Amino acid sequence: MGKRPVRILMLAPQGAGKGTQAARLAAHYGIEHISSGDLLRTEVEKGSDIGQAVRAYLEHGDLVPDDLILQMMVRRLLRAAQTGFVLDGWPRTIHQALAADDLVTDMPEVGLQAVLNLVVPTEELHRRLLARAEKEGRTDDTGAVIQHRLDIYQRETKPLVDYYRSQGILLTIDGDQPPEVVTKDIVAALDAFVRAG
Ligand code: AMP
Repeated sequence: MGKRPVRILMLAPQGAGKGTQAARLAAHYGIEHISSGDLLRTEVEKGSDIGQAVRAYLEHGDLVPDDLILQMMVRRLLRAAQTGFVLDGWPRTIHQALAADDLVTDMPEVGLQAVLNLVVPTEELHRRLLARAEKEGRTDDTGAVIQHRLDIYQRETKPLVDYYRSQGILLTIDGDQPPEVVTKDIVAALDAFVRAG
């Protein structure tokens, strides 16, 4: 596999540029971009069983139950294990991170090499999310739901920063810069980290 970052997690609040950067990294390293939010939105659009089960959670900006998402992610991860992947949106709670670590016991090929923590000030997150709401018309990009999702991030997802820091695989990046500069910083940090490992 060589010294190439191929199993990455993007950890960042909504609006930090997580999806954009994940897509760029996927293209740069030739790996797959796996967005839990996109997978769920596709299921909702298809009107599948899982889509019907999760629709209301997505609309309200609530996290969908862990068991619903775990199965979906395991299937997707297995397909991407060979190529490599950048995860965007999962794991998102300590409980999910523990489940992901459990998976690695049976499938070492899906173990994370590095976790990117994109840091952006809260006011900037609000500004970007409202701008995206106008552009994309996502049902969960409205004022109250945005605040709710950011609150959930603080409460449920931010603890993952310490979780992965204690595993020694956390890389912190300043996300409050033009997107191309953020990408350059991420690639430099990842390449140096993987080379050193
Ligand atoms: P995102 O596009 O990552 O902001 O995700 C959009 C919505 O999908 C979230 O607000 C949740 O309702 C749901 N979702 C995505 N990933 C997860 C996850 N790992 N756990 C629970 N819910 C999730």
